[in-house]
Amino acid sequence: MDLGERLGEVDARIADAARTAGRDPAEITRIVVTKFHPVSLVEQLYRLGVRDVGENRQQELSDKASRISDLDGLRWHFLGQAQTNKARAIRAAASVVHSVDRARLADALESAAEPGAGALDVLLQLNLTDDPKRGGVLPADAETLTEHIIGCPTLRLRGVMAVAPLGEEPAAAFARLRKLADRVRAIAPGATWISAGMSGDFAEAVAEGATHLRIGTAITGPRPVHG
Ligand SMILES: *Cc1c(COP(=O)(O)O)cnc(C)c1O
Repeated sequence: MDLGERLGEVDARIADAARTAGRDPAEITRIVVTKFHPVSLVEQLYRLGVRDVGENRQQELSDKASRISDLDGLRWHFLGQAQTNKARAIRAAASVVHSVDRARLADALESAAEPGAGALDVLLQLNLTDDPKRGGVLPADAETLTEHIIGCPTLRLRGVMAVAPLGEEPAAAFARLRKLADRVRAIAPGATWISAGMSGDFAEAVAEGATHLRIGTAITGPRPVHG
């Protein structure tokens, strides 16, 4: 199968999962995760109609985004753990930051706003594991962080993001995420997005209400080995 065929097949599976869940496939955004792949892959995806792509490292995001800044309507989603000293570069390149998991990062993104620039769409990343060192805020601290983010005038909190932990049924993890998303939305009514689901578990994520899927290898094929 070539890239276009894999993309078409994944989109068909997303549509199936949506219909099975009684949802409209049109309310789901499929983000193609292009990390470690050359920028030429993003250009190929763009020609196939893809407008949402994801990266998890600031340097790679910045390099790729600047090399193809002429592609109209292409949106870069930043998915990785972010250091506060990279906030300015991330804000300059990304349309959406999925990985806001602490107040200091929200503050750094806030103060990186260029005068007159529009608001930055952000998601609150939740840690669904028991390991506090993994990316994401612990569920017990989600409400405090929600309050903090909505206090940042140039950030627009759109919803939540999470990665299903290894060693747990993804369906169970995404069900917990959905409940946490409800708690965030009770404070921030505009926070309606749920970014969840990767190549191996996007159908389960759709069943639990995911609005944004982050799909890499199922579309791109294996990632090149990275040094
Ligand atoms: C790499 C990555 C993905 C995509 O993973 P695949 O298994 O290749 O679909 C999704 N989300 C995040 C945060 C990632 O880093």
